[in-house]
Amino acid sequence: MRKPLIAGNWKMNLLVVDAVKLVEGLKPLVREVSGVDIVVCPTFTTLYAVGQALKGSNIELGGQNCYVKDSGAFTGEISPQMLLDVGCTWTIIGHSERRQYFKESDAILNEKLKFALASGLKVMFCIGETLEERQSGEMDNVLRRQVTEGLKGLSEAGFDRVAVAYEPVWAIGTGVTATPEQAEEAHAFVRGLLKAQFGGNVSDKVRIQYGGSVKGDNARELMAKPNVDGALVGGASLKADGFAAIVKGAI
Ligand code: PEP
Repeated sequence: MRKPLIAGNWKMNLLVVDAVKLVEGLKPLVREVSGVDIVVCPTFTTLYAVGQALKGSNIELGGQNCYVKDSGAFTGEISPQMLLDVGCTWTIIGHSERRQYFKESDAILNEKLKFALASGLKVMFCIGETLEERQSGEMDNVLRRQVTEGLKGLSEAGFDRVAVAYEPVWAIGTGVTATPEQAEEAHAFVRGLLKAQFGGNVSDKVRIQYGGSVKGDNARELMAKPNVDGALVGGASLKADGFAAIVKGAI
């Protein structure tokens, strides 16, 4: 049985005062929850303050991205060391917005994934097809490429600290959620790819989160599917009660 992983991706939202208010509101709502890994991924500028507010809670801290060097002349970038320094245990890598707006390729993301893992972080590695790719019958090929290239070279042990987030791009921030059946079909396909590339031990243990317009009222039925091991949540993670409802949908 894989432990559900629910993460909130706050994207480029919230100033320090509101970010701290959000986690102060969230902590009591999920305090009694056990058997679920809960993570919030704030902006870089709010990580420290949110990390301080989360001390002693059952909520972990994550970054939304990081670079492939510890330090140096890389203006505008942030290193895994810096994420660890402010209390992060996780980072997201390969979110579709990074792929789309910042042109992060499978090769770059593979490098980022390996560097973040080697630095000691756990990684939520995002994959997913666009609407155009789904409608033109390319979905399987896109997912195969993203898994093959993005996860290339990982060891079996490395997968103890990797979760894959299946996030169909057409469902992100659109209010259109994949049906539980669509999600299950894609997750089972991805698990099959993991099995073919890395073997049964890896495919059995890797958690595959679903992401794309997850809310309190659809989370439970999505996560009831056997291959859906949690959620990566954007918009609905910006409200404490909405995010807590999703967390409770995993129990
Ligand atoms: C996301 O950005 O990872 C996401 C799933 O967003 P939303 O929940 O808003 O669709």
